[in-house]
Amino acid sequence: MKTLLLPSSEESLSLAADLLRAGELVAFPTETVYGLGADALNAKAVLSIFAAKGRPADNPLIVHIHDRAQLPDLCTVPEAAIPLMDAFWPGPLTILFNRKPAVPSEVTAGLPTVAVRMPSHPVAAAMLKACGLPIAAPSANSSGRPSPTLAAHVLEDLQGKIPLILDGGPCEVGVESTVLDLCHGVPTILRPGGVTKEMLESVLHTEVALAGSILRPLKPDEKALSPGMRYKHYAPKAAVTLVEGEEEAVLARLQDLYRREAEAGRKSCVLCFSEHMDQLRDCRPHDIGSKDHAEEIAHRLFDTLRRLDEEGMETVFSEVVPPEGVGLAVMNRLGRAAAFRTIKA
Ligand code: AMP
Ligand code: MG
Repeated sequence: MKTLLLPSSEESLSLAADLLRAGELVAFPTETVYGLGADALNAKAVLSIFAAKGRPADNPLIVHIHDRAQLPDLCTVPEAAIPLMDAFWPGPLTILFNRKPAVPSEVTAGLPTVAVRMPSHPVAAAMLKACGLPIAAPSANSSGRPSPTLAAHVLEDLQGKIPLILDGGPCEVGVESTVLDLCHGVPTILRPGGVTKEMLESVLHTEVALAGSILRPLKPDEKALSPGMRYKHYAPKAAVTLVEGEEEAVLARLQDLYRREAEAGRKSCVLCFSEHMDQLRDCRPHDIGSKDHAEEIAHRLFDTLRRLDEEGMETVFSEVVPPEGVGLAVMNRLGRAAAFRTIKA
């Protein structure tokens, strides 16, 4: 299959809408990462998403809408969700709702809940409006690779497997949406993202819990609240290790670790803050962004992880950010890229 890569225009949006209505797949930009969309009410179209990505069938998808009027066909909406939708939709917040029978079980992996989000990216919004359908869409990467934040990343993974990629430039947030569970008692973040715990609490006026496995691996006997958390994710081919502690100790340890790898003949590098590029200049430093701007680090993170593969890195050592605000989403993704291997400096 030939894959078209087109900028957003009236023609490309109308082609996207035609393809989606015909049960085909379209990759499209959102403010979080690129999504791989199909008609959420067409089980066969939804199954082809799993095939193109190599995604396990028990990992459910997020349904994207452009208008709240689409909700009653998909799910029931609890009172508590309304202030959240008022505050954060359109935007990078996915909410779990109890599903209605119209939603095929292929979308929800058989769960009684359906995850719904209204993206704010103008191309996503225009595409959703043009096709008039709820669109099921996971990230548009091959399963197990870092999520795509550029159209070129989608092409890297899915060329020849899908008919169309809409190019909307780099994704602003750079990590996937916050997934919030309102269906099981205390509101709980299953996956941290651009809408932070602090932002949710300020609207809900109550404490928001974090799923246990956000900053550590799932235990063998632990049930994944969000099935996606069972899977190895965001993993570059290199063995990544996080180094935490006081700044000076971390810098010294990174230099030491890099030197040992070089002596052992392994291709290695460090991921560090912009502020430390100069001090770590002999350690093949990769700039992850300023230490005071978790948003900037999130924006660049997946592109940086993809480049490690291209460069053939075998071992990678990374600085860490405090797990607060968007820093929590950064540490969740970075932690998973490192299989939560951490050294205290
Ligand atoms: P992705 O589409 O790649 O961003 O992955 C979607 C994420 O949303 C996965 O981590 C899923 O586990 C999670 N998710 C989707 N639907 C549900 C649901 N009904 N219950 C819990 N988690 C969900
Ligand atoms: Mg994904």
